[in-house]
Amino acid sequence: MTVYFIGAGPGDPDLITVKGARLVEQCPVVLYTGSLVPKEVVARAREDALVLSSEDMDLDDIIDVCKQAHERGEDVARVQTGDLSIYSSLAETTRRLDPLGIDWKVVPGVSSFQASAAALGQQLTLPEQCQTIILSRASGRTPVPEKENLKSLAAHEATLCLFLSATLIRKVARELKEVYPGSWPVAVVEKASHPEERIIRGTLDTIVEQVESAGIRATAMIIVSKVLEQTDFNDSRLYAANFSHGFRKARVAEVIDD
Ligand code: SAH
Repeated sequence: MTVYFIGAGPGDPDLITVKGARLVEQCPVVLYTGSLVPKEVVARAREDALVLSSEDMDLDDIIDVCKQAHERGEDVARVQTGDLSIYSSLAETTRRLDPLGIDWKVVPGVSSFQASAAALGQQLTLPEQCQTIILSRASGRTPVPEKENLKSLAAHEATLCLFLSATLIRKVARELKEVYPGSWPVAVVEKASHPEERIIRGTLDTIVEQVESAGIRATAMIIVSKVLEQTDFNDSRLYAANFSHGFRKARVAEVIDD
């Protein structure tokens, strides 16, 4: 018996992995985050499956569902939004399952930062200009360690993807303007991959007004990066004629030492 923690993806029911979908089809118990995982994803469950929403459950209730399934020898599909490695309850749940001797495995999902980049048609790294992506959140009711404060993250000029921060957009813009000019590009993607998806593009100076007047408060990704308006960058080496790598020999010989 195993509890499978499955990333359901960002909203579009087609964006769960084939592996995740198969497990939802097969497991006799399906426990999903009711508020965020689309019903179509769990509609794949067997007709005789016990399908439960965790919306009104606390951690004890979730552990109880797993314990009871364990006693019956039934696998559980625990389906949660996006990917389980980012702002999920994976760690607190698995540390309760281990002492109970309940096996578990994780199946990755498409995260909302990836779906937001896709909605924007945007590569989040650009050759020589930006080679790092930072996934973080603004601190509000949930504290963020002081060493991870936005200003210090911004100092890297890496692409910043901010989860759980739409209601804090005013604070985000204010803090980032201490590091960047007001013309620094920002995009906000609400409900990426859902039919109601909305995209707002602006700058640190304009974004607060844009987000507030659009009434965006939840399920939105804030992406702050110079790559959002950079068109002046070099081609990557991946397809460069003079660059050899494991799968392709260079047409023009050149020694590259990295
Ligand atoms: N594990 C999830 C994140 C959960 S935290 C993942 O990998 O995506 C919830 C936050 O994710 C929301 O506040 C929002 O910032 C973001 N989010 C989730 N779904 C989204 C979507 N479809 N579009 C934009 N942002 C989304």
